[in-house]
Amino acid sequence: MNDHAPPPDLRAKGAALIHEAALVAGTWIPAGGDAIAVDNPADERVLGRVPKLGGDEVDRAIAAAAAAFRPWAATKGKARGEFLARWAELVTANEDDLAALISLENGKPWKEALGEVRYANSFISWFSGMAERLDGKAIESANGGDLILAFREPVGPVAAITPWNFPAAMVTRKLAAAFCAGCPVVLKPASATPFTALALAALALEAGLPEGCLSVVTGAQDVVGGRLTGSPLIRKLSFTGSTEVGRKLAAQCAPTLKRLSMELGGAAPLLVFDDADLEVAVEGAVAGKFRAGGQTCVCPNRVYVQAGVKGAYLEKLTARVAALKVGDPFAAGVEIGPLIDAKGVAKVEDHIARTLAAGGRLLTGGQRLEGRFFQPTVMVGGDDALFCHEETFGPVVPVFSFDTEEEALARANASEFGLAAFLFTDDLNRAMRVGRGIEAGLIGVNTGLISNAANPFGGIKQSGYGREGSVYGIDDYLQVKSLTLALR
Ligand code: NAP
Repeated sequence: MNDHAPPPDLRAKGAALIHEAALVAGTWIPAGGDAIAVDNPADERVLGRVPKLGGDEVDRAIAAAAAAFRPWAATKGKARGEFLARWAELVTANEDDLAALISLENGKPWKEALGEVRYANSFISWFSGMAERLDGKAIESANGGDLILAFREPVGPVAAITPWNFPAAMVTRKLAAAFCAGCPVVLKPASATPFTALALAALALEAGLPEGCLSVVTGAQDVVGGRLTGSPLIRKLSFTGSTEVGRKLAAQCAPTLKRLSMELGGAAPLLVFDDADLEVAVEGAVAGKFRAGGQTCVCPNRVYVQAGVKGAYLEKLTARVAALKVGDPFAAGVEIGPLIDAKGVAKVEDHIARTLAAGGRLLTGGQRLEGRFFQPTVMVGGDDALFCHEETFGPVVPVFSFDTEEEALARANASEFGLAAFLFTDDLNRAMRVGRGIEAGLIGVNTGLISNAANPFGGIKQSGYGREGSVYGIDDYLQVKSLTLALR
């Protein structure tokens, strides 16, 4: 996919997309005195500012969404789909620059950011095709006479809150489904990466989205989050972020009984069985683990290798990881950029220190480089309980071993999280047995890459509920209404 040669002046082109403003009901509100500074994690310099909106401005965005709801819901599905298709075209036309903007505010390498823009855009295209296919059902009544017509209708104005690790994809995965269903959205992007969301919003307006159907509200968590979760006008919250914050927001939504989608944290296991193709298992681990520098909710947090192949696997994995290139996100050949912030670096250091204290060993890496850059790291041994319960969110692969399939399954499931899991085996029966036995929403068999618009994305257990993308993703934005016709 990333076969594109980087065009010149990328930094400047990305920076040119920065809107130092919030978008409230079609009006751009510029950042004033009280603002959030957004920095570039690669050089730690401020890129720009977005406003800290007050509660009244958030309320204005909510009121605009409420006013826009009926007309947008009444717009023919075909027309909503055509808007989404135009938006997708504009995203494609601007994909190099949007990727540069992601690299600037998030730090992921430009080629990887381009992959994210295309992944983000695949949700817009996916839902553009679905907007005129939101049909219902005719059901014969249990009394044998009446006819029941079941319609699927949009849930109403939606609040969306998104994280920084995929500044484009986490936004479009929600917005495209909501617009397809006929729901306006008030979006609160992560404070670390608001500019990509604002640039996408500008393109949505250019593509013809009615004002009021999308506001992008920046500001303090408690002010913005409090208004969005507390408002009775907002009928649904779709949240992607940490489990801890998800629980808090779900509680805040309880008094108004909002529909909820919760895409939360993970601690994915990756199992390598002794019948696996080890090259495939190494590439799968590297592709899954080091995307976004290990800062993804689905990335393998703990690797378990069957005892017979542990030595060979570790040797190959260590050599492959040691060769990964860390550096400037805009430099050719760079595969890993900086971590998002100093807290992220401290967490990685803490997980390494605790693994060493528990008897683990470093096979490669383990050191912080300058600024927020960190060496890609492989460790072996120590206590896997840490990685069952805490996301590292950094470029560290902790490896443990197991003897039997039963043990592998038990250790994979020894976590309160249940988002993703990966297994590598050439035995189809084993793949089915273990895959069906793992408690997670997304299982990759012989692959480390599972994020795809066609794949129902979401978790179970403390990783949340709801599904995004796929044929199921639209259901989170629709409610069923029935009409019973008494027939004579
Ligand atoms: P986070 O701290 O939970 O923040 C996520 C979003 O929630 C941000 O926009 C944040 O705003 C906002 N927020 C935080 N506290 C809030 C509050 N009290 N009220 C309202 N909004 C609040 O998570 P993160 O560090 O950005 O992202 C990493 C986490 O996301 C990881 O746990 C990762 O696994 C998870 N994630 C899950 C998925 C999935 O699909 N399951 C995908 C990607 C990431 P500020 O930015 O202003 O703090």
